[in-house]
Amino acid sequence: MSVVNLSAITKRFGEVTAVRNLDLVIQEGEFFTFLGPSGCGKTTTLRMIAGFYYPTEGKVKFNDKDMTTVPPEKRNTGMVFQNYALFPHMTVFENVAFGLKVRKLAKFDIEMKVEDVLEKVRLSDYSTRQVSQLSGGQQQRVALARALVIEPDILLLDEPLSNLDARLRDEMRNEILRLQREYKITTIYVTHDQVEALSMSDRIAVFNFGECQQVGTPTEIYNKPVNDFVAEFIGETNLIDVNYVESLDHQDIYFSEVLNKNIYVRSGVSLDSEEMVLSIRPESVRVSSSSQGGTNSLLGRVELVQFTGASVHTTVQLDAGIRILSTDLNTGPETYVKEGSKVYVQLPEDQIRIVPKVRE
Ligand code: ATP
Repeated sequence: MSVVNLSAITKRFGEVTAVRNLDLVIQEGEFFTFLGPSGCGKTTTLRMIAGFYYPTEGKVKFNDKDMTTVPPEKRNTGMVFQNYALFPHMTVFENVAFGLKVRKLAKFDIEMKVEDVLEKVRLSDYSTRQVSQLSGGQQQRVALARALVIEPDILLLDEPLSNLDARLRDEMRNEILRLQREYKITTIYVTHDQVEALSMSDRIAVFNFGECQQVGTPTEIYNKPVNDFVAEFIGETNLIDVNYVESLDHQDIYFSEVLNKNIYVRSGVSLDSEEMVLSIRPESVRVSSSSQGGTNSLLGRVELVQFTGASVHTTVQLDAGIRILSTDLNTGPETYVKEGSKVYVQLPEDQIRIVPKVRE
């Protein structure tokens, strides 16, 4: 049974339409992420699920029960805010116990539940500390404990890691996943960080301008983006405008004006729309100092070689005037092409995706 069902949700704030005609179904136990740039409507959608906002149009259902205008305290959701929203002068224990006191649980039950959840977030030794005396990562754990202690049906996390430094973010990312698996709780996670989204989620909804662009697993979203916005927002990609020419026996031919060249594509999906763009990931682009033959071979000069440890990023300025980025696994310095050298860039036919252009 589906847990959260949003149908034709629109939210307007005066003139601003923050979310437009959104349909989403989030399954029980799923780790589901809303991903998109700042101002695209992620938080507004989360808040409509929490009940802090009611939609202007559309319905919010939990397990087929209409929750559209049910107040937050009657939804049994646990929320973690970006700024944690903890009570700074209360102790860790008091912060976590707060929701249980509001629910008027017996003192003994409160103690049991708080101790249990503090152990789960590895803060048992800190229960008498004031929250203001904790580090950012520890405060984040308190916020998680406070959300989990009420045994919510749905856990809602709004950019919970954005105030932490890079190392702590990695640590907390693992921690949140561990807790989510342990509690098997339906989790909705808001972020603008594509690495977080790809590495944590069962499924992702990519938002832009208040609309959902694509819903899919991390691999679907990365390997089969539905348009140039998704292709560019998730990971890195090379985009080149193209026009459809014709299809021949499993191969589609497109013409690129900027390259002044036909591009051959074997993606299994032909596309002939008004405005199209070729997308190819840097790890699919091959760069070599000698011609490999075959189709989609372009001439250029190496502008920049960047070594990042596990991989090497090569930027090539094509003779046609545009840049192509290629990423290779680091297999030793003897395999790198040299900055300034003439190279052949190959775009493998089966690695190219042609997608509709939605960006300006
Ligand atoms: P961010 O990552 O920056 O938090 P977001 O994707 O979560 O962005 P929202 O906070 O949902 O975006 O905002 C979507 C749009 O709605 C924005 O244009 C924002 O300015 C507007 N908006 C959000 N809340 C309100 C409000 N309470 N009153 C008026 N406009 C609002």
